[in-house]
Amino acid sequence: MTLTEKLLARASGKTFVQPGDNVWVNVDVLMTHDVCGPGTIGVFKREFGKTAKVWDKNRVVIIPDHYIFTSDSMSNRNVDILREFVREQELPYFYDVIDDINGSWKFDSTKGLLKQQYGKNFGGVCHTALAYRGHLRPGEILLGTDSHTCMAGAFNQFATGIGNTDAGFVLGTGKLLLKVPETMRFYLEGEIPKGVMAKDVILHIIGMIGFEGATYRAMQYEGPGVSSLDMDDRMTITNMAIEAGGKNGIFPCDDQTLAYVNDRTSSNGTKSTFTPVDLDQDQKFCYDAKVDLSKLEPTIAQHPDPGNRALAKELGHIKLDRAYIGSCTGGKTSDFLAFAEIIRGKTVKIDTIGVPATPDVVRELKALTIDGKTMWDVLESSGVQMTENASCAACLGGPQDTFGRLNTPMNCISATNRNFPGRMGNKESKVFLASPYTVAASALTGRITDPREYIPN
Ligand code: SF4
Repeated sequence: MTLTEKLLARASGKTFVQPGDNVWVNVDVLMTHDVCGPGTIGVFKREFGKTAKVWDKNRVVIIPDHYIFTSDSMSNRNVDILREFVREQELPYFYDVIDDINGSWKFDSTKGLLKQQYGKNFGGVCHTALAYRGHLRPGEILLGTDSHTCMAGAFNQFATGIGNTDAGFVLGTGKLLLKVPETMRFYLEGEIPKGVMAKDVILHIIGMIGFEGATYRAMQYEGPGVSSLDMDDRMTITNMAIEAGGKNGIFPCDDQTLAYVNDRTSSNGTKSTFTPVDLDQDQKFCYDAKVDLSKLEPTIAQHPDPGNRALAKELGHIKLDRAYIGSCTGGKTSDFLAFAEIIRGKTVKIDTIGVPATPDVVRELKALTIDGKTMWDVLESSGVQMTENASCAACLGGPQDTFGRLNTPMNCISATNRNFPGRMGNKESKVFLASPYTVAASALTGRITDPREYIPN
């Protein structure tokens, strides 16, 4: 069996499953956020009763992250609905924007969009926070009310997005009926060359198969190239399985996985026991491709979809109005460090926005120094508008006052993961997806730029 088949077999109490089987799966963790949480809670209460309790309060993780730093009162209210539910159910894993469990959330626009407006337990973007806060473990089943839940497949688990109705059912029962997907294998060889990042790997792969090329399929990564990818790289790659229509993305478990998970679970005091799934000799794939990482070049997904692939060096004629670095895909500390590597000591030419994925990223960028300057200062002194308010921000457009939102038609190069029309705001805008390196080089020139021009050999 493939990794996904083994996970679904184990979670459904079977010794063997094959693609197309429908199995009742026991869920290890259910995650929801401010956009889908209120709807999920509504379904749960309607179907299981107003006083019903969730199946296991230690397996529910709630992370408000999408429409947080906005004056939109309905969005603020959504966070309050989550808090009321957490109070009522006594849920231990709620990464609230405020510290008072009896309080209510209201964004204060008079303080501006850049200065921190969250309490000490705020988590930031759900997928990144799940990893940082020790909720991802090899061998488990994670379901979340967000399509990029697939990011957790980097940790050798089955992770996928589900809708509010399914999530309401999981809240009540801890189970879900899932069809076992076919598996596509991407056998990675070689090592990523200088100037190329994990984001280029996944943009290359989606370009190979198209933005519907993995519909309801598992995207499994194997091969000697895997060991050269750190956990942040793997997260970037599995995060975008859904951009090819994939049900999930998944990596084998290795020493890097174990080190990351053991560190995160022990520092957060979360469950630390788990059993990974290993690669079998006799796996059956519906698609099998080799990807030589050493041959990859800085890659772009052009407007209007993540499969519309081109090389950065071919698109130098495209002028840009904005550069954006942030999101679960491109807002990790390592993403900002790569970005800073290119722009340090230089000045951006276009409006450039930086939104860390989590408060931990903000802290790390303010703690790490180079030549006596913090990384945060390096970014700001190059002209990047950095906000401390870690969240999804303009990755999903959001309400009109969302930081970095594309409110007028423009060309934007972005380290985020999705570029369908209107995704980051204005429907006439064109979004070009790229690695943090490419976003940084393009911010310096105001046109799409191959970052290798800025990286010494
Ligand atoms: S950062 Fe973007 S892709 Fe990630 S969870 Fe938020 S809206 Fe979704």
